[in-house]
Amino acid sequence: MQTIAERLKSAQTSIQQYSQAANRSSNSVRLLAVSKTKPIEDIHAAYGAGQRCFGENYVQEGVDKIIQLSDLTDIEWHFIGPLQSNKTKLVAEHFDWMQSVDRLKIAQRINNQRPVAKSPLKICIQVNISREPQKAGVAPEELVHVAQEISSLEQLELRGLMAIPSATEDTQKLTKEFEDMKSLFNQLQESHPQIDTLSMGMSSDLALAIEHGSTMVRLGTAIFGARQKPL
Ligand SMILES: *Cc1c(COP(=O)(O)O)cnc(C)c1O
Repeated sequence: MQTIAERLKSAQTSIQQYSQAANRSSNSVRLLAVSKTKPIEDIHAAYGAGQRCFGENYVQEGVDKIIQLSDLTDIEWHFIGPLQSNKTKLVAEHFDWMQSVDRLKIAQRINNQRPVAKSPLKICIQVNISREPQKAGVAPEELVHVAQEISSLEQLELRGLMAIPSATEDTQKLTKEFEDMKSLFNQLQESHPQIDTLSMGMSSDLALAIEHGSTMVRLGTAIFGARQKPL
C-alpha cells in the first residue's frame, strides 16, 4: 500500500515526464487534488506532503471540510461539481475557485453573493466539449458570449476553461476533444488575455491532456485511492 504522500509524489513525477515529452516546462501544469468523499485526515496527509490545491464536488461536504480545516490558511479550495442555483451562496462564501460555471445564471448569483471583503472568486467556464446532452457545460458556440458577461461581473475573475471529456478509451475521440478545448482557450485568450487556466485531464487521460495544453489536471483516485461510491 502506497501512502498519500508517495502517490502525490508519483503523480508529480508523471506530470513532469508528460510535460517534458510535450516540450512544456514542468511548472506549467498544476495539480488539483480531488478530495471528494475522502476524510479530513487524507487532506491533512496531502497537505503535509506539500499539496495546497484541493477540489470538491459536493457543496455541503466541501464547506464542512473548508470550515474544519480553516486553520490551514494557504489551502486553495476549488469547487468542481454540478451546482444547483439554490446552493450558489455556499460556493460564493467559502471557495476560492469555481470551475464548473455552466450557465450565466449561476455566475450572476455567485457574483451577487460573493462577500465584498473577499477577493473576487476565480472562475472557469465548464465547456460541454463532447456535446453530450446529459452533460453540464456551455456549448462551444455560446462561450464568447458567456465569457463576455462573466468578465463584466465585479466579484468574479475569469481565469479560464474546464472540461470533462467523453468517458471513452477511444484515443482519437479524446484527442479531438482536447484539441478543440485548446483552440477555444487560445481564441478566448485573444479577447481575455488574463485567462491562464485550462483545466482538463484526470487520472485516466493525464498524458493526452498535458500534450494538448492542459494547465491544471484534476486527480482524485491517483492520489487518494478508489472512492466507495463510483462518482
Ligand atoms: C471526481 C472528479 C475528478 C477526479 O477523478 P479521478 O478519476 O478520481 O481522478 C476530476 N474532475 C472532476 C470534475 C471530478 O468530478
